[in-house]
Amino acid sequence: TPVIGVLALQGDVREHLIALAAADAVARPVRRPEELAEVDGLVVPGGESTTISKLATLFGLMEPLRERIAAGLPVYGTCAGLIMLADKILDPRSGQETFGGIDMIVRRNAFGRQNESFEAGVTVAGIEGPVEGVFIRAPWVESVGAEVEVLAEHEGHVVAVRQGRALATSFHPELTGDHRVHSLFVDMVRAER
Ligand code: GLN
Repeated sequence: TPVIGVLALQGDVREHLIALAAADAVARPVRRPEELAEVDGLVVPGGESTTISKLATLFGLMEPLRERIAAGLPVYGTCAGLIMLADKILDPRSGQETFGGIDMIVRRNAFGRQNESFEAGVTVAGIEGPVEGVFIRAPWVESVGAEVEVLAEHEGHVVAVRQGRALATSFHPELTGDHRVHSLFVDMVRAER
């Protein structure tokens, strides 16, 4: 059984731990570099990417995470987690950094005021039938590099991507009780072990 960590600095950690367990992984919170060293894959949760960035630096996780992701650790980011996996943010707050791993440029809070939070059915490549997409001040992917596979769009904007062992969604499957996206990630982790 793969052991999958959830980066537990800030955000909806508990919901991801529950979804991963439901998708047949052993799930653990990760707060320290020693805990990171013990996992076969990592989820970066939703929350606030500026806070996650600051806390990762404070907890000494920024460099270890960048290195492990660059070395091929399977990772899945939702919402703020998607932002953290982007090689580039279009409109970063000052001092905001990312772990990188996906050759894409993201726009934070992209869906705008009128549409701050909403739910919509999303068709995700590799998953049969629509996934309930919960979008909360969600980013979208503005542009992707040649190695990036677009898995889903919503109203013409890219909201799910994969590059090699890195997966990211603008929306939050961990809030729905539908564990198919987590299962897809658990399968990616299994394939690497
Ligand atoms: N707007 C948040 C950010 O920029 C993301 C929101 C979320 O994770 N639900 O980090």
